Amino acid sequence: MSVLTDLIYGGSNAVAGLTEGAVNDAIAKYGADKEIAFPDTAYFFPTIYAATGVKVKTLGDLPACVGVLKSLITNQEDLGQALNAGLATAVGAEILEGLKFVEPKDAYEEATVPGIGFVPDPIIRSLGVPLVTGDIPGVAVVLGKAENPEDAVKVVKDYQSKGIMTFMVGDVIEQCAEGGVKMGLEFRVIPLGHDVTAVIHVVTVAIRAALIFGNVQPGDLPGLLAYTKERVPAFVNTFGAIDSVVVSAGAGAIALGFPVVVDIDLGENQVPGALESVLDHSETVKRSLELRNIKIKSKDLPIPVAFSAAFEGEIIRKADVKAEFWSAKNPTCELVLMKDADQVEDHKITLIGPDIDSGDLEYAMGTFIEVYGKKMQADFESVIERKIHAWFNYMEGVMHTGQRNLLRVRVSNDAFEKGLRMKDFGEVLYHMIMDEFDTVVDKCQVRICTRPEGCKEIRAKANEAFVARDARLKSMTDESVDKFYTCILCQAFSPSHVCIVTPERLGLCGAVSWLDAKATNELDPNGPCQIVPKDRCLDERLGAYEDVNEAVSKYSHGALERVTLYSILEDPMTSCGCFECICGIEPMSNGVVITNREHVGMTPLGMSFSELASMTGGGVQTPGFMGHGKQFIASKKFLAAEGGMGRIVWLPKELKDQMADRINATAKELYGIDNFTSMIADETVTTDMEELYGFLTEVGHPVLEMEPLM
Ligand code: SF4
Ligand code: ZN
Repeated sequence: MSVLTDLIYGGSNAVAGLTEGAVNDAIAKYGADKEIAFPDTAYFFPTIYAATGVKVKTLGDLPACVGVLKSLITNQEDLGQALNAGLATAVGAEILEGLKFVEPKDAYEEATVPGIGFVPDPIIRSLGVPLVTGDIPGVAVVLGKAENPEDAVKVVKDYQSKGIMTFMVGDVIEQCAEGGVKMGLEFRVIPLGHDVTAVIHVVTVAIRAALIFGNVQPGDLPGLLAYTKERVPAFVNTFGAIDSVVVSAGAGAIALGFPVVVDIDLGENQVPGALESVLDHSETVKRSLELRNIKIKSKDLPIPVAFSAAFEGEIIRKADVKAEFWSAKNPTCELVLMKDADQVEDHKITLIGPDIDSGDLEYAMGTFIEVYGKKMQADFESVIERKIHAWFNYMEGVMHTGQRNLLRVRVSNDAFEKGLRMKDFGEVLYHMIMDEFDTVVDKCQVRICTRPEGCKEIRAKANEAFVARDARLKSMTDESVDKFYTCILCQAFSPSHVCIVTPERLGLCGAVSWLDAKATNELDPNGPCQIVPKDRCLDERLGAYEDVNEAVSKYSHGALERVTLYSILEDPMTSCGCFECICGIEPMSNGVVITNREHVGMTPLGMSFSELASMTGGGVQTPGFMGHGKQFIASKKFLAAEGGMGRIVWLPKELKDQMADRINATAKELYGIDNFTSMIADETVTTDMEELYGFLTEVGHPVLEMEPLM
């Protein structure tokens, strides 16, 4: 037997033994009926569920899984068989990690090494859009202990600067922590845990992606492996010596289609394309990306700090602030306007007022961008403007929240010391606009004003523009436009899903409005957003159009034939999996319950967000369940075919508060009801179906007068 297969089987057998022992011990201690589950997932033990269809719910379910695990270890020389043994190691790791959650306290809380352990479903769903847009170009798994800690730090920082999501397992976590790598989900560098088995937590992310987005059926192992190989752009790097357990875990990764790059010399045991030695750490990143064919859109900007989506979530605390621009203290605003050719001098960047080295802490900030382009349209001003938030956040050491004339920007001491000044903000805006909006913008100039007086002038101009834009948005209805758009960005993960985006129904991810889709179509005419004419209406109530049906049939490659825009029951729009909210029918009241990704608690349907979300997705129609964007709740078209938003009987409180003004305005218009949100229950009222019914009766909720849904 080759050294490689030998090692794989050695590791798999060791893990199998450990797993069997741990399962027996746990059953002896807690009994076979003891419930067991990972936190906040609808997919049980995801690897076991996806591969075999078995739903692990109690300790008593595990011995059979150990049996399956052992059957995968054939000890035969064939490499394919050896990779199966790698999958057995994954199953073993999942069980060993799962057993940590039987203990009364989350085992990870007690661990000395910071590790997040299991990644809950809502986080995976939230990663859908950044992954399909290429904002997160790939997923790295970094494992082990580098001989020279600096090498590990360099590799991980390199991934971070490229926006790659990096999961770490083992000593490399401390090495990177000591090396000053900023860690956490918001930095895209995620410590999973110290034990090798913690690597399963990134494996189950890939596996659940197949279940959530890919419509892969539990038990369809070949379908699962094809999905992860083709659609999950992950790879593995190991640092330092590798033992048989690491090798067999690596075999599991290879079985899933994830290449493994090690930093020791494997000589003839290398498997080109799947298992390779790269001894020079300055080549590790390059080779890993090549193996997965990941292309990084290079963003080499002439600024003194790093610029990457990985810094988007960076928080700058008060003690670290060098300069702050905050509307509560000083006038602020951001404005993009289109101008004539002679009014714009390309790449002119002007600072009006003091720079951040003036010694002050607080400044005003008026950012005024003027663009000219032959194909530029007023509708794209707001589309560009909304990107300022992301671009400023991408600068390492800069935090941006808010938009329009309510915002807060912080610059860290660290960024200041690296030389960051206001001119760099202008450079970022200029370069990003010319990069992302090159089809519509020919010339661009940026003015940044840090003086309250000048800023007020810009703000007055901006307010005028905002009023006009809001009026335009308000007047923009599905009836007032002559076309809708498709969005098929999510097909990267959800091959048969098509969103139809209309003025009154934004994409279910919440990130694509009709205007965004229009701009995307203009920028990239062969891209994800295609025009859907709306000439042939079949049924106004349902929002059924011959043109929409043709579009979904074409872009879903025949998987779908009919989709309506306004119904949850009759040919509802499909979901990919990255929806902000999930809506489901509540049979007792004939209403609907909505919950959102951020809400972890129960709903009156007896299901959490994760559980409800698992009822639909993968581009499949599921009458009675529908994923949608937050803003859609307040739309007059929400469930219009079933009577409209008057069907909503329950919402998480935070979401309700956030949307209250708009929900109430729409309800007043549709039903003449004042303060409709006071009739909608939330978790502070009840999460019990019977009690909910009592509440609805008490407040005289309009749903009680509506036709039965079914
Ligand atoms: Fe995905 Fe639909 Fe959002 Fe497009 S609009 S990114 S397809 S969820
Ligand atoms: Zn999606």
